[in-house]
Amino acid sequence: MEHDLIVIGGGPGGYATALYAAAAGMDVGIVEKNKLGGTCLHVGCIPAKELLETAAVYRTVSEAAEFGVTASEPVLDMAVAQQRKQGIIDKLAKGVEGMLKHRKVAMYSGVGQLVGGENGGLPSNGNSQNIRRVQVSAGIETETLAARNVVLASGSVPKALPLPGFEFDGKSVINSDHLLSIKKAPESAIIIGGGAIGCEFASLLGDFGTQVTLLEALPQLLPGADPEVSKFMERSFKRRKIEVQTGVSVASCEHTENGVRVMLEGPESQQPASQQPESQQPESQQVPVEASCVIVAIGRRPLSESLAAEKAGVKVDKSGYVAVDEFCRTSVDGIYAVGDLVATPQLAHVGFAEGMLAVRHMLGESPEPISYGQVPWGIYTRPEVAFAGMTEPAAIEAGYEVAISTNRFGANSRAMIIGEAEGFVKVVAEKKSDGSAGLILGVHIVGPWATELLGQAYLTVNWEAEVRDVANLIQPHPTLSELYGEAMLSLTGRPLHG
Ligand code: FAD
Repeated sequence: MEHDLIVIGGGPGGYATALYAAAAGMDVGIVEKNKLGGTCLHVGCIPAKELLETAAVYRTVSEAAEFGVTASEPVLDMAVAQQRKQGIIDKLAKGVEGMLKHRKVAMYSGVGQLVGGENGGLPSNGNSQNIRRVQVSAGIETETLAARNVVLASGSVPKALPLPGFEFDGKSVINSDHLLSIKKAPESAIIIGGGAIGCEFASLLGDFGTQVTLLEALPQLLPGADPEVSKFMERSFKRRKIEVQTGVSVASCEHTENGVRVMLEGPESQQPASQQPESQQPESQQVPVEASCVIVAIGRRPLSESLAAEKAGVKVDKSGYVAVDEFCRTSVDGIYAVGDLVATPQLAHVGFAEGMLAVRHMLGESPEPISYGQVPWGIYTRPEVAFAGMTEPAAIEAGYEVAISTNRFGANSRAMIIGEAEGFVKVVAEKKSDGSAGLILGVHIVGPWATELLGQAYLTVNWEAEVRDVANLIQPHPTLSELYGEAMLSLTGRPLHG
């Protein structure tokens, strides 16, 4: 079968590529070996956020008395929560399939791989009229497809820790796939990795009543976030009795009668207070921490091995990422790669954007490359974290003199009304030679509905707006977004409420 474009992988990167190309009039085929929707829909963004919503409802009911509403003590029924989660996933998965069908995208079930051969099976004259071939294997059946363009979008899988005792068993040593299907919240858990996924899991389990120890090897949680945001999250977690240790690494894991014993090392490693005899202070650099399970959340590795990419002449780096240029072109003409398979931020919406970029490029539309430093980040912890653009240290390192405003939700009426007045909006702007605040370089929010609030902040950063462009815009009252307006007014030197 011949198409204009074949996409390998039906996750966000792949299905967005297929939908966008079909909307642009291309004849498209998509190959998926498992389920359309990929990591994001089945074992990533959607199930994680769905369970975090269960945690939010649980909390709301627990705190209902504060609002004058009498409710009995909430009981977490994980079976119902999992059923609801699965219902949403199934509906969305049907939706993806329906949209692909509606746009007449041909769907192939099986493992897709590039057909190699001498010089990757392709003439080396750089002629964009070359035809690429993709083999689809499903059991003993194989089919060969042909197209002028191929987009590789095979995504990623959880990274394992290459240390003794950390082999995943799905029970006491688990990854994100396992955690999102739990039937019961564990009594205690050690989470290795204080990035977005590790922090979301810490928040989720903390709300479910699990005794959580969160470990991060780097000096701050949420590496990449503004240090003030990371510090705030660390303090917030600690207030919720979530043990946080940064600057520590793990050495080994041993299975015990009740779960696991993980050995920690590093200058700041210490036994969690809950496991420390009162008089005993840690003496050695290696200390044990025990819990019912350990969750390894140290990131994801690209899943490039099933594509036979190198055989087809496509360069893959030593970590397994497919090498691409700013238009997502691989080293072989007509073959592109997008999403978690390439070394760009591992976010579903970055995969969407890369898919659209690749299609526009193959259509000869000269698209603008993606500004990876300005993509939106959303982390669905309690409180939420969201940001776009430069952190304060990054702006200084880039040579800017900066003007900063940090406005707290504590004084915001809507935040008080909803009972979530924790957090702040921090704006990093360029300080002009006359001392006034100019270009908005970055916005960093920690607080209620931060992921939704980021919308207008993302636009201002990416539209390269100046403080004065935004400060006079009217924010509706009473809303959380007033704090964003307030942060801008503060930067003009004339705050209203702040
Ligand atoms: P994937 O989603 O991994 O999809 C790849 C697809 O390709 C899979 O369906 C796979 O079966 C298929 N495939 C692989 N090899 C082949 C082959 N050879 N032939 C055919 N098919 C193949 N991102 C966000 O933006 N926001 C979030 O809130 C968020 N939360 C997350 C929470 C968790 C717990 C996790 C694990 C991830 C989260 N992410 C989030 C990241 C997001 O899920 C990924 O960035 C996104 O799924 C990447 O999309 P992708 O299409 O590149 O790859």
